[in-house]
Amino acid sequence: MTEMHSNLIKHPSIRKILEHYRVIWSLNHLSGLGNWDLETYMPEEGSEARGEALSKIASLSQKLFLEKEFVELIKESSKLNDLNDYEKAIIRMLLRDLEFYEKLPSAFIEDFVKTTSEATTVWRKAKNSSNFSLFEPYLKKIVELCKKKAEYLGYKESPYDALLDRYEEGLTTKEVEKYFASIKTILVELTNRIKKSESYRGSHSLEEEKYDIETMHKFNQKLLKFIHGELTHLRIDVSSHPFSTSLGKGDARITTRYKGKDFAGTYGSTMHEYGHSLYEIQSHNDLHYTPIAGGSSLIVHESQSRFWENFIGRSEEFLKLIYGDLVEAQPSFKKYDLSEIYKYLNLVKPSLIRTEADEITYHLHILIRFEIEKDLIEGKIDVKDLPKIWNEKYKSYLGVDVPSDREGVLQDIHWSGGSIGYFPTYSLGTALSAMWKHHLEKEIGDIPQLLKSMDGINKIKDWLKKNIHEYGSTYTFRELVLKSCGEEFNPKYLLEYLEDKYGKMWNL
Ligand code: MG
Repeated sequence: MTEMHSNLIKHPSIRKILEHYRVIWSLNHLSGLGNWDLETYMPEEGSEARGEALSKIASLSQKLFLEKEFVELIKESSKLNDLNDYEKAIIRMLLRDLEFYEKLPSAFIEDFVKTTSEATTVWRKAKNSSNFSLFEPYLKKIVELCKKKAEYLGYKESPYDALLDRYEEGLTTKEVEKYFASIKTILVELTNRIKKSESYRGSHSLEEEKYDIETMHKFNQKLLKFIHGELTHLRIDVSSHPFSTSLGKGDARITTRYKGKDFAGTYGSTMHEYGHSLYEIQSHNDLHYTPIAGGSSLIVHESQSRFWENFIGRSEEFLKLIYGDLVEAQPSFKKYDLSEIYKYLNLVKPSLIRTEADEITYHLHILIRFEIEKDLIEGKIDVKDLPKIWNEKYKSYLGVDVPSDREGVLQDIHWSGGSIGYFPTYSLGTALSAMWKHHLEKEIGDIPQLLKSMDGINKIKDWLKKNIHEYGSTYTFRELVLKSCGEEFNPKYLLEYLEDKYGKMWNL
């Protein structure tokens, strides 16, 4: 048995709760593994059986959660007034889950899990053959299930609020609309100014430069070892949609994908998913096996992945550190010097694929998804019209023509997994990453300077640990920002950062 004695969690009632919770944790651990395997190594035909197993585990987990003794313990403990922040947070998270389980019938949860796990496999087929009609009936069912979910959960203004809240505690449609309104015009204008600058380049020959997949995979492993040290608690595999998952103490997993050319995609997702994993890895040891281990706010989580992807991975100083390994792995890259690789990784170009978008137009990709989801859930549009709506929005916001559903409406995995309400956290999380950058630099110095040595990289990791990771999910997104930055969330840091970086790059 693992020692349960924790210095952070001392209250006997909370410890008793955690003893019971550990069984639920174990089920979560194994469904996490089942989901990871489904995305990485499972043969295609295994999806039905996996869907069945995952849905049964989900309902078993719900049953255990709703055991009378456990529910009473949680409710009783929520009245205690001598709990520390960690203990309070455990109760807060459990009450959130409890509300979810009490409001959603177990037959509904089973149906949801089964449908989405089958749909994920169908989505992959549909995407590979660029055939939306394969996926359409599944998505239609998923949208209906999400609408039903919103009704079960309840909401004040829009049913979409209920879905947002599951990914980000308390986030509302109105807030998201206000946020996008504050950045949209400025980003469109900045993109246009860049495109009009004299030296503007919208493409780079590295986009067509082929790489060897096996040696690129070895390079990605080396890259992780370089920034993280020995990979004894972190592994990297391949999936069609990169993701990261943390199964528990000592077991964080990330994935990347390989197209065989245009290495920014695989490099960017490796850095991105590493940022997610580092959050889980650097959570306080005493929080393992509790509901507050690792990050639960998706905005905060995404602020970590975007931090590593953009401020580290896309910086000239970091590229300097890894350039030698990169050209050693892919000798054909030798014809590009460091400044060419930097330019390639920082191209600004309205494009089709969200995960490969530049730092500026990225937010417009998210805005499109947000508007579509909101309209679907509010019943203003139909699933069958999605390819047309999608293509129209890409033309109007990004000025690009979508040649196929594979590169259009089928590109993201989220809807197949029932994750409607998730996308806005990507953009908000990116805006938050710029806020962390500002405050980190104020305290320990500019990132470009820090990136000149391993010692500097460690200082960055320590700052993130101390101000963000160590707390796990102890604080909500708003509480954490206030506590660690001394001010409320503000997207102005994102706008300032982009203006400064790209203004310098293109002499605006
Ligand atoms: Mg992410």
